[in-house]
Amino acid sequence: MIRETHQILGDSAGTSHELTMIRFRPDQPTAKIYLQAALHADEQPGMLVLHHLITRLEQAKKKGLLKAEIVLLPLVNPLGMTHLAFGTHRGRYHPVNAMNYNRHWPDLDALIHQDSEDLSHVFSNNPDENQRLIRQIVKSKLEAQTPVTALERLRHMVMMEAYDADMVLDLHCDDDALNHIYIVPQLMPDYQDLSDWMGSAATMTAEDSGGGSFDEVWPGLWIKLARRYPNVAWPKPVLSATLEYRGLDQVAEEMNKQDADNLYQFLVGRGMIDDHPLTPPSAPPALPLTALEYLRADRPCLMIYHLPLGSIVQKGDVIAEMLEIEGEGAFTTKRPLKAGTDGVLFALNLTKLAWPDHIVAKIAGRQPLEGKGVNLLSD
Ligand SMILES: [Zn+2]
Repeated sequence: MIRETHQILGDSAGTSHELTMIRFRPDQPTAKIYLQAALHADEQPGMLVLHHLITRLEQAKKKGLLKAEIVLLPLVNPLGMTHLAFGTHRGRYHPVNAMNYNRHWPDLDALIHQDSEDLSHVFSNNPDENQRLIRQIVKSKLEAQTPVTALERLRHMVMMEAYDADMVLDLHCDDDALNHIYIVPQLMPDYQDLSDWMGSAATMTAEDSGGGSFDEVWPGLWIKLARRYPNVAWPKPVLSATLEYRGLDQVAEEMNKQDADNLYQFLVGRGMIDDHPLTPPSAPPALPLTALEYLRADRPCLMIYHLPLGSIVQKGDVIAEMLEIEGEGAFTTKRPLKAGTDGVLFALNLTKLAWPDHIVAKIAGRQPLEGKGVNLLSD
């Protein structure tokens, strides 16, 4: 196991941020796997999952079972760890520019064609060679960049590590939720085993969620290249997904250890680790992200949830009541919050106070909903 500690110069004078990478590298790696957690720095379950995965990988390395290089960044966003204020920690948005840390990641296809190059003459009939070539170009384009801010330096370092990975897994969590996954549709159902091993209550697909999230960068490059150069031999898109490990408070030794064991078994099943393969219980098939219903409060209220996570609901079912806390109905009137679609209730809120437009529940439906627009993510 190799521990790499990088210093990222901060934006404020006299500060820097520490980024730790843990690397396992067999002599002849057959692939590269990149895992990160806490990009939203206030989401800690993934950190503990990766801690346990590191322990499993150390054992596998000692036994000579590792086939792939595996690099783990259990705290990929040290910038977001600095937001301690008023007795609490926030880590979702960058205070300097209010940007969500998991938005506005670059489009690599656009990056390598930024000067309108036509690369069609450089490709061969070999998809692996074409992949190597594209990765070299991506690398050279990244190396030519000069990041200026601490956030740009961090992103640059992360991209320089992830650009040549064959699997890129980004561990997050929701507020109060069951395990679920966001992934591009081109990877499903090929990676149903990832959903199965994670025990994903809802696996939701969108090629472009409208937010430029980290997981869409990696398969997106190959999907766009295949469209741009349809006659070239391309490899399958790189596996990448956002793995949502339940809710903010779901940091627990045994539970997250089991999550790590499951992730380990997924890698075994994919031939990345030469250990005994097991069979996972099956998870539901993937559904389009456009079928995800966000239920929102319309005024300040107190949420009284009636249905637990995992409830299978039908349109019109009452999920919660909203106790009014101002005006004529304050503290006497409760209004029902009803499901607007059929599906599984997979996310609620830990904090029961709600306000206008605040998302208070999520249902993974089966049918695409109308009026979703281009931005399919919550914020
Ligand atoms: Zn997140």
